[in-house]
Amino acid sequence: MVNFQIPFEMLKSVKKVGIQLPDGLKRHAFEIAREIESRGFEVLISGETSFGACDVDTSILEEVDCLLHFAHTPILNIDRVIYVPYFIDYDPKIEIEVPERKIALISTAQYVHKLNEVAEWLRKKGYNVEVRAGSGRVRYPGQVLGCNYSVLRQSEAEAVVFIGDGLFHAIGAAIYTKKKVYAFNPINRELQEVDAEDFIRKRYFVVSKCAGKDKVGIIVSSKPGQKRIEVARRLKEEGEKKGIKAHIIYLNNVRPEELYNLSYDFYVNTACPRISYDDLERFEMPVITPQEFEFLIGKRNDIGLDEIL
Ligand code: SF4
Repeated sequence: MVNFQIPFEMLKSVKKVGIQLPDGLKRHAFEIAREIESRGFEVLISGETSFGACDVDTSILEEVDCLLHFAHTPILNIDRVIYVPYFIDYDPKIEIEVPERKIALISTAQYVHKLNEVAEWLRKKGYNVEVRAGSGRVRYPGQVLGCNYSVLRQSEAEAVVFIGDGLFHAIGAAIYTKKKVYAFNPINRELQEVDAEDFIRKRYFVVSKCAGKDKVGIIVSSKPGQKRIEVARRLKEEGEKKGIKAHIIYLNNVRPEELYNLSYDFYVNTACPRISYDDLERFEMPVITPQEFEFLIGKRNDIGLDEIL
């Protein structure tokens, strides 16, 4: 079983506990529920999605005294919701050789707890290492989210080293900083240099498919940490000034099947940026970011990177 530190000390006046896990960890719901039940609590398991700390199942709070939201660091302050982080252990002595001497370290919620130890190790190897605090929804110095790279905003480093799995955040950092980015996977211990060009090319291609189209659906998610209704209203107004007919579409999970029966030429997604970026191939019609829409209507010079600050 994954070793979650269930904060029983915070459950003193509680009888009914809800638990919410991301899909990749839902298989552990049984053991977690059993452990909580063994202490005399009633447990309800949320079957809803949990894509990030922004995606909290507030509806289950009608049935329980508190909700344990697992595997994400806190970004929302919701009464009776307790975030239970999930940290993956790894050796901070990372063997990397990069030509740049001044580097910024970044990581995701699962690996960020050892970033200071990694920094100390790299300093001993002669690197000048930054681990900066961010703003808004990031909790730890050096932490990035798919929707927040603020830890790199003031960076003076020549290159960025991302510690974590997958390349999405590393590509995001490359677009955000326009600097060289390396991705180090602390589990298989491999280092890769990141090339964001292909990603950027694909984004411009998607935006080009929206040119000349005049019916846009602007998507707003009702998830508490993804809801950008004011952004949607502003984009609707700006689009309409350019002769584009726009409507706001309000839903919870932004999935292709939710859009099948609608008849818009393309969509602007104001919910999690990863939906526009990761799920590109899954949607029948183009789905672009707010910044890409602004580029399309001539309000900015590049497609930028979508962030929720
Ligand atoms: S909006 Fe997306 S990237 Fe940001 S915290 Fe939520 S799931 Fe993660």
